[in-house]
Amino acid sequence: EAHVPIHLWDVINQTVMLMERSAAGKGIQVERCFGDHAPFVLASPDLLKQVFLNILINAIQAMPHGGVIQIQTEKDGNQACIHVTNDGQPIAEEHLLSVFEPFYTTKPSGTGLGLAISQRIVHAYGGHITAQNVANGVRFTVTLPGRWEEA
Ligand code: ADP
Ligand code: MG
Repeated sequence: EAHVPIHLWDVINQTVMLMERSAAGKGIQVERCFGDHAPFVLASPDLLKQVFLNILINAIQAMPHGGVIQIQTEKDGNQACIHVTNDGQPIAEEHLLSVFEPFYTTKPSGTGLGLAISQRIVHAYGGHITAQNVANGVRFTVTLPGRWEEA
């Protein structure tokens, strides 16, 4: 698929739009906090959407009692960082890396493929993806080589 300059905010907005209804139905609010530098990445829009969709679906599944999912973008040197943080139970420290392994799942009917696929896509674009526990929740960070435009 073609690699074209993609405005990350567009990709994120389109992905959120796909999930907003089911999130709202579970009492989940999706907040976006975009910085003041508009990040572009060279990628296939569909593959990039797949990455954020997988992260967002997991976040929603991790919040049976509702809460907030926060999506932040920031510029870190020439890297674009996207943080997706959800309220919820932490991931066991020893599994923070395993979650990216194919077929690792803790869900009764999970495939364990969402994050493995996401990691492959991000790596193919020269980026990386990490999971960490934060206060009261979990954060996935995607880092991709970026290009910039003042917002
Ligand atoms: P699946 O969703 O089919 O289980 P994934 O590759 O998408 O496969 O995720 C693998 C595992 O990582 C999940 O089963 C879950 O244990 C863990 N995980 C992913 N996202 C989160 C999250 N936001 N909060 C807690 N655990 C998570
Ligand atoms: Mg999943």
